Amino acid sequence: MAAVFFNKANPTVLITGANRGIGLNLAKVFYANNFNVIGTSRSTEPAAIQDLSAVAAAILPLDVSSVASIDELPSRVKAITPSLDVVVNNAGIFEQDGIGHLTSETFTNHFKINSIAPALISQAMLPLLRASPRAQDRGHAAKVVQITSRMGSIADNGSGGYYGYRASKAALNAINMSFARDVPDVTFVSVHPGYVQTRMTGGKGDISPEDSAKLMYQVISKVNDKDSGKFLTRDGKDIPW
Ligand code: NDP
Repeated sequence: MAAVFFNKANPTVLITGANRGIGLNLAKVFYANNFNVIGTSRSTEPAAIQDLSAVAAAILPLDVSSVASIDELPSRVKAITPSLDVVVNNAGIFEQDGIGHLTSETFTNHFKINSIAPALISQAMLPLLRASPRAQDRGHAAKVVQITSRMGSIADNGSGGYYGYRASKAALNAINMSFARDVPDVTFVSVHPGYVQTRMTGGKGDISPEDSAKLMYQVISKVNDKDSGKFLTRDGKDIPW
C-alpha cells in the first residue's frame, strides 16, 4: 500500500486523518525529518491515499467515529512496529450550528470525532508510546499531540457561536490535561494550527497547511515533559484557557 521503507533506526509518528489537509502536511514534514510515518485514513482507496503514499511507511484504515475501528488500531500498529514516538490526533470535523440550529446530532458528531476519539486513541496508544526507546530519555519523552483549536479557548471566545466545535475542542484540551497529569512519562500537548487554508475552512485562512505544519513540527520537536498539558499556538506560545 505504501512504498516508503520503514527504517527501524528512526523514530515513528502516527498521524490520524493523514490523507489530506493539515494531517497530510504534518506527514510530509515528519517524513522530511527522518521519521517513519504511519498515516491513518478513513478511506484507503488509492485515490484517497495517493499523496500520503509518497511519505508513509504504512497507511492504516481508521474511522475515528467508530469505537470498533479504534479498537483495531493497536494490533494494526503492532504488526508494523513495537513502539511509537509521537501520536498526532489530527482527524477532526467542523459543522455549522448556532442558536436555532443546535441539535443533539451536531453536538454528538463534534464530541465523538473531536474529543472522544482522541481520548480513546491516546489511551489505546499508551503501551506503544511507553515502549519507545526514546521515552526513557526525559527530555525526549514520547509525545501525544492533540490538534486543537483556539476556538476551544473559553477566555478567547469574543464572538460566540460554533457551539459544538468550540465545546468539543475545549473538551479535548481538558482531556489532554488529565492525560498529562496521569501519565508523566509521556508528553501531551494541544496545538492550535492557526486559521489554515484547508477543505475545513473552504480554502480560507491566513496560512497554508504546508507552512502551518512546518511551524507545528518545530513546536512538537521542542516540547518536553515540562510542557505536558499545555495549550499552544503553532509558534509555541501559551493560549489562555
Ligand atoms: P480537513 O477537513 O481538510 O481534514 C480533516 C481530516 O480529518 C481529513 O483527513 C478527514 O478524513 C479526517 N476525518 C474527519 N472525520 C473523520 C473520521 N470520522 N474518521 C477518520 N478521519 C476523519 O481539515 P483540516 O486539515 O483543516 O483539520 C485538521 C485538524 O485541524 C482538525 O482537528 C481541525 O479541527 C483542526 N483545526 C483546523 C483549523 C483550520 O483553520 N483548518 C483551525 C484549527 C484547528 P476524510 O478525508 O476521510 O474526510
